[in-house]
Amino acid sequence: MLKGKVALITGASRGIGRAIAMKLASLGADVALVYGGSRESALKVADIARQYGVRAEVFQCDVSDFEEAGKTVAAVKEAFGTIDILVNNAGITKDGLVLTMREDAFDSVLDVNLKGAFNMIRHTSPIFVRKRAGRIINIASVVGLMGNAGQANYAASKAGLIGLTKSVARELAARNVCCNAIAPGFIETDMTRELKDSSPLIKSIPLGRAGTPEEVAEVAAFLAQQSAGYITGEVIRIDGGLAM
Ligand code: NAP
Repeated sequence: MLKGKVALITGASRGIGRAIAMKLASLGADVALVYGGSRESALKVADIARQYGVRAEVFQCDVSDFEEAGKTVAAVKEAFGTIDILVNNAGITKDGLVLTMREDAFDSVLDVNLKGAFNMIRHTSPIFVRKRAGRIINIASVVGLMGNAGQANYAASKAGLIGLTKSVARELAARNVCCNAIAPGFIETDMTRELKDSSPLIKSIPLGRAGTPEEVAEVAAFLAQQSAGYITGEVIRIDGGLAM
């Protein structure tokens, strides 16, 4: 259970982030829902989360902006009193072959997926260190482990996120702060909407189907709970066997 804990989830307005926010709320955590542009969706997530009897508030923030991230963490701390769990889930894709990829497609994906996670960790870790407790959960991707043609920028951001996870895990372990990554495979969200069940990519998944955001949320909830307190620096694949 997570009763009395405060979880900050980025990209909580849609997809995997929304499912993680719901799952943590269902376990009793108060949730700070950070969204980029989808305010209405974020407000709906908050309404549903409150049905679990927890506090739920929304915060607009472009996670790629260092100062904005700092102000958002401060606002969440002000509103909830503390932060116990940080889920870095906000992410984007701008796919294309490296041969023709535009510089801004590379930069923006790195800025949101990798620097965004750094920004949030940088601003929340002093809170965790002071409390001598905290959980950081970074949503990476199997693409960060395997690479993927057409996603050099995205794969680089997710591989970087895994390196960030392990380094932060080492730095903060002495303060009882755990930092882990989840590496999903193909999960049914807006990000992957155009993938059909008949796609060769789906067929290459040993379990023969895409995963659901709720299945990823189960892993995040596991890592957030007391019982996972001896796990740090780990990358948990949830991919139907795709990257084994
Ligand atoms: P999604 O449905 O496209 O949702 C993306 C979320 O990120 C939205 O809530 C969006 O907020 C937020 N976001 C994007 N840019 C942002 C920014 N600059 N600042 C703050 N928030 C921002 O994506 P998803 O499929 O749920 O993916 C969630 C995470 O899982 C991502 O990190 C993704 O890389 C990873 N992942 C997904 C899959 C998959 O198959 N779907 C597989 C592996 C890993 P707004 O809508 O409010 O702007």
